[in-house]
Amino acid sequence: MIIYNTMTRKLEPLEPAEPGHVRFYACGPTVYDFAHIGNFRTYVWEDLLRRSMELNGFKVTQVMNITDVEDKILNKAMELGQTLDEVTAPFIEAFFEDIDTLRIKRADRYPRATEHVEEMIDLAQTLTDKGFTYESQGSLYFRIGAYEAYGGLSHLDKREVQDGARIDSDEYDKDNARDFVLWKGQKEGEPGWNSPFGCGRPGWHLECSAMSMKYLGKGFDLHTGGVDNIFPHHENEIAQSEAATGEKFVRYWMHSAHLMVDGEKMSKSKGNFYTLRDLLEKGFDPRAIRFLLLSTHYRSQVNFTLESMGKATQEVQRLDDFTRRLDEYGAADGSDAEFEALCAKRLEEFRAALANDLDVSGAVGSLFRLVRESNAAMDREALPAASLQVLRDTLERMDSVMAVLERPAEEIDAEIEAQIEARQAARKARDFAEADRIRDDLAARGIVLEDTPQGVRWKRRLG
Ligand code: AMP
Ligand code: ZN
Repeated sequence: MIIYNTMTRKLEPLEPAEPGHVRFYACGPTVYDFAHIGNFRTYVWEDLLRRSMELNGFKVTQVMNITDVEDKILNKAMELGQTLDEVTAPFIEAFFEDIDTLRIKRADRYPRATEHVEEMIDLAQTLTDKGFTYESQGSLYFRIGAYEAYGGLSHLDKREVQDGARIDSDEYDKDNARDFVLWKGQKEGEPGWNSPFGCGRPGWHLECSAMSMKYLGKGFDLHTGGVDNIFPHHENEIAQSEAATGEKFVRYWMHSAHLMVDGEKMSKSKGNFYTLRDLLEKGFDPRAIRFLLLSTHYRSQVNFTLESMGKATQEVQRLDDFTRRLDEYGAADGSDAEFEALCAKRLEEFRAALANDLDVSGAVGSLFRLVRESNAAMDREALPAASLQVLRDTLERMDSVMAVLERPAEEIDAEIEAQIEARQAARKARDFAEADRIRDDLAARGIVLEDTPQGVRWKRRLG
């Protein structure tokens, strides 16, 4: 596979450290509110990337953090007189519901910042021992002047680096490179953790470095986010991690362009946003939303309008009409070698397009071409049963990446039953944390489990 590496500004072959196995970290949500569909543009693209790597034969281990301690969360907690958990719990639940709705494959792990404070303190201590930090007014800062390679990812001009100028806030500051906070001293009324630097809490950048290296190793293959993460967040992650370990932190960086509304970035602060729930309430099919979000190349901005939603809905409708026609089609016995070769050709084009820095238009083009060709074959009554099965298998392979085709109810039920079996196996192995995780996952999807003498039964929660 060829991908565009933000670090080198070049297309490069994807060659993970362990051949065939990509270790992949994606910056996750800050859970103080519902994610908006701009955020989901990034998460859906990361899902497309992961599924494309899998189609191209890679094994992928993916980690996505949940930022559950951060300025905005703290402000909300203090405003509402709630604990951090009380603020974040409903939005963590909503996040998992939303990614399931958008058919985003679950990452292997979703580490939460509040559960990894110890690792963050260790990292800050290592940086302190190595002379990269200083304390000021109860907080600990990273001195970027002490780290020679600062600015490599965003190609920052050295002159912009202001030695000794500090930034405390988790919010982005695009204009200046400044010493950034690793550990924030506790302020009146704020929650805090004890540390060698005093009672306080970790800065946002430190969270991602500590959690990514814990689960993927000191140096790993791939790190992604939206373009707004390049500077300062990812730049600071690199500085902290490489200063601490003396090793290369990440081999490939990839970033997606924003989702825009009327020429402006969709964002909470501008108020120009839709959540996924807003769109579902308007009656849009989640598959159409997914299709819209993934069908623009990731390095181009998506311009979101309700008209573009309408168009995506029509595309998905065309696919539904097609799969329904396949279900109803009375195929004669036999096979057609030429048609089957055509299926193989379109699948190969589809794969190759995605291997080419995720050329999603090329991939979607091959899918719709196959739809047209198959419709034409059915018009001529020239799609025999064995070839129909080959076509179905081909569509299934393509949909292992796109995930937009209608899924029969039985398939969904089978998946739920597989989850229940995995939970039973975990219980047997006395891995109760895993068993509870599966039960909670299912509960988040509205599936309720009941233990009966005949075994586990399940039903869908209504409403
Ligand atoms: P945040 O919760 O703001 O840290 O954002 C979570 C992820 O969503 C990050 O990877 C951001 O880069 C991404 N993101 C935020 N706004 C947009 C947008 N309008 N379009 C695409 N991605 C976005
Ligand atoms: Zn991050």
